[in-house]
Amino acid sequence: MAGEGGRRTEREPVAVVTGGASGIGHAVVADLAAHGYRVAVLDREAPADGDADRVRWVVGDVRDPEANDRVVDVALSGFGGLDLFVGNAGVHDGGIGVRDVGGAELAEVTRYVLDVDVVGYLLGARAAAEALADSGGSMVFTLSDASYLVRGNGAGIAYAAAKHAALGMVRHLAADLAPAVRVNAVAPGGIVTGLRTSDGRQVFADADEIAATVRAFNPLGVVLCAEQVAPLYRFLASPAAAGMTGEVLRPDGGLTVR
Ligand code: NAD
Repeated sequence: MAGEGGRRTEREPVAVVTGGASGIGHAVVADLAAHGYRVAVLDREAPADGDADRVRWVVGDVRDPEANDRVVDVALSGFGGLDLFVGNAGVHDGGIGVRDVGGAELAEVTRYVLDVDVVGYLLGARAAAEALADSGGSMVFTLSDASYLVRGNGAGIAYAAAKHAALGMVRHLAADLAPAVRVNAVAPGGIVTGLRTSDGRQVFADADEIAATVRAFNPLGVVLCAEQVAPLYRFLASPAAAGMTGEVLRPDGGLTVR
């Protein structure tokens, strides 16, 4: 007997991914394309590998509502529909604590991180919601161990606030959009990527030192790579997850039992 839920179309599945030029998003795009998806990507940077058979790129900023509409349009007009929206583009705060900088700088960093990591996700969700309701599709957002923890993971107060807010947004969207659209998330621990701060510095500039810190911090003693977490996004969009919404998968080496 066929189970209930899931997408209602026979065409090849289509995804939109934000922040797909680097790190986790890049691995998600590759994983989806390798498994039959066609993917439209929104990133502020053009990737080195450019347009490919199954992947189209839109250069724009997730803080811009029009850029989010544009990438959904590329999916609909170029690929014939939309089944999955992955909200992933994000920036870090560099670990700034409340007493580390002056008020003006604290406000500037916090506004920037919230704008990209929360407002950017919301604008993507808004742009994709109608098409996903039409197809019986779903959304998956990248959260973080910083959606739960407030110390020890290198995040500062703005990043913790943004990732906690994004968790609330995922749960609210899941309730709001049910039963038409499922909304879930992946919350990784530390993964060495090109993640940048609001002023453009690399968070993981010293990859070996960061890897050692991440390893020491989680009970499994692991440092995952982006390619290891990418299949979780595809799983959450698959019929196997048809009964899941408002859920968060946490590939973080077991931080809940720390
Ligand atoms: P990354 O820098 O390698 O990738 C982020 C991508 O987002 C980049 O391609 C960047 O150009 C793009 N981007 C940033 N701001 C943008 C904007 N305003 N408009 C459009 N594109 C923009 O970093 P990553 O680590 O792969 O980060 C992806 C997501 O994973 C982020 O939401 C981050 O908070 C989250 N995350 C990362 C880790 C980690 O340890 N790396 C852990 C948990 C969660």
